[in-house]
Amino acid sequence: MSIFETLESEVRSYSRGWPTVFDRAQGSWLYSEDGKPYLDFFAGAGALNYGHNHPVLKKALIDYISRDGVTHSLDMFTVAKRDFLETLNEVILQPRSMEYKVIFPGPGGANAVEAALKLARKVTGKESVINFTNAFHGMTLGALSVTGNSMKRGGAGIPLVHATPMPYDQYFDGAYPDFLYFERLLEDSGSGLNEPAAVIVETVQGEGGINAARLEWLKGLSDLCKRHNILLILDDVQMGCGRTGPFFSFEEAGIEPDMICLSKSIGGYGLPMAITLIRPDLDVWAPGEHNGTFRGISPAFVTAAEALRTYWRDDELEKSTKAKGERIGTVFNEIVEAYPESNLVAKGRGLARGLEFPSGELAGKVCAAAFDRGLLMETSGPDSEVVKLLPALTTTDDEIEKGLGIIKDSVESVLAR
Ligand code: PLP
Repeated sequence: MSIFETLESEVRSYSRGWPTVFDRAQGSWLYSEDGKPYLDFFAGAGALNYGHNHPVLKKALIDYISRDGVTHSLDMFTVAKRDFLETLNEVILQPRSMEYKVIFPGPGGANAVEAALKLARKVTGKESVINFTNAFHGMTLGALSVTGNSMKRGGAGIPLVHATPMPYDQYFDGAYPDFLYFERLLEDSGSGLNEPAAVIVETVQGEGGINAARLEWLKGLSDLCKRHNILLILDDVQMGCGRTGPFFSFEEAGIEPDMICLSKSIGGYGLPMAITLIRPDLDVWAPGEHNGTFRGISPAFVTAAEALRTYWRDDELEKSTKAKGERIGTVFNEIVEAYPESNLVAKGRGLARGLEFPSGELAGKVCAAAFDRGLLMETSGPDSEVVKLLPALTTTDDEIEKGLGIIKDSVESVLAR
């Protein structure tokens, strides 16, 4: 038995589907300790949008460490944090005429969500939050209370309260007009719905099965929130930083969320970092009211700023992400058509793509077959029934084709049996 099996908790999960020991990584490739290459279409669950050990970011990081730049700094002022804030403002916020203040919560996505939920409740004096079916917002108790998955919710060990789930886009396959149920409950004084402080939503539900909300649905939701004076929290932890094309995944919907949660790829290099962007008039915190030791990991600020400068001064990355995503969508549609009796469904937007199988067992077998062929991809969805692709946005066209070839072979090896 390896040290992992004897000493590490049973809670580990990814290592079960990929039973090898990884050592090195570069771009879209991970290498096991015995040198076997794996094409990585998982990309740290969206934390590695610019690939592994990106040379430009690595140089900035090594330079910073070599000159003894501050590593840990709570929320003290540092040169690295100033550079990050200035770059975020200049490269991302100002060109989009976005006016937000920046909270540095703890470094994970759940930390960014907790900050948003707490602030929404503080600002409005209301407890209730609306979430959506199949949402995923993190594993801390507040974030879990607005998460759909029953297995993950069960881990809380206490009742998860003050959240009310509503149907996400297409939950009823278009059988009812959008928001019919939600708006009716809001307007009916007999509905029993507690007045919500906020709505929290993902534009594409990554963990929930790559469910891409239509842009008009997102716009409709934003309008509904405005009509009813409900704060809109946009959780862009997984779909932000270019995953669907534009820097923010909601840009094409033309909406202006009241709060935006970012983590995963905001640090650029896979280093832990999160931010919550808030409308300036919502900034009613007392100093230290929301706190944490690891809010100022300066090496992550360095790589975050460098990533913004490298990739977001023009729209090259956005365009190539959309083109690569469409290519994957085309091949997924071909696979769907090749197995009409299997009822597969192609899903997604940008470089967040999914292939839905009738069962989690089949999807898991396809991922296992892909692993044997040197490709890493995971499953998502309530029953793990969706094969999920999140390649680094920097993955080359040749690498995309190589991965798609492996996926075709893997699907065939499972379905043609
Ligand atoms: N929000 C969304 C949309 C996510 O996809 C995730 C993680 O997958 C989280 C929040 C939680 O992030 P973390 O695992 O860093 O706490």
